[in-house]
Amino acid sequence: MILSVNSKCPCGSGIKYKKCCKPYHDGKTANNALILMKSRYSAYAKQQYKYINNTSNKEEDIESIKNFSNNSKFENLKIIEFIDGENKAFVTFKATIFSNGIDSSFCEKSRFIKANNKWLYLDGEII
Ligand SMILES: [Zn+2]
Repeated sequence: MILSVNSKCPCGSGIKYKKCCKPYHDGKTANNALILMKSRYSAYAKQQYKYINNTSNKEEDIESIKNFSNNSKFENLKIIEFIDGENKAFVTFKATIFSNGIDSSFCEKSRFIKANNKWLYLDGEII
């Protein structure tokens, strides 16, 4: 479901999508891994597949992301911990997601790296 730009941002900031994560989806650079993580979560909710791929260290499987995104409701994102670093950072979060009506919420510790002055998602560990 694509929500209006005037609705609240899926990342849980409480502000409008157009003033929160949308600028990143439109090309703005995320200055730290926390912003990147939130905007990637929003990208799943807003079906911004290109952004998910462009902010990942590896080639993402767009078809499986599409499938997941189209069949899921992104209810909430809670940041548990953010460990910043020079070229490496960690974000631990809880994503509340319902896929095909089934609670598929999870906690993940994501790893990010900075390459060519750009933060990228490296991988994640379900915790
Ligand atoms: Zn946002």
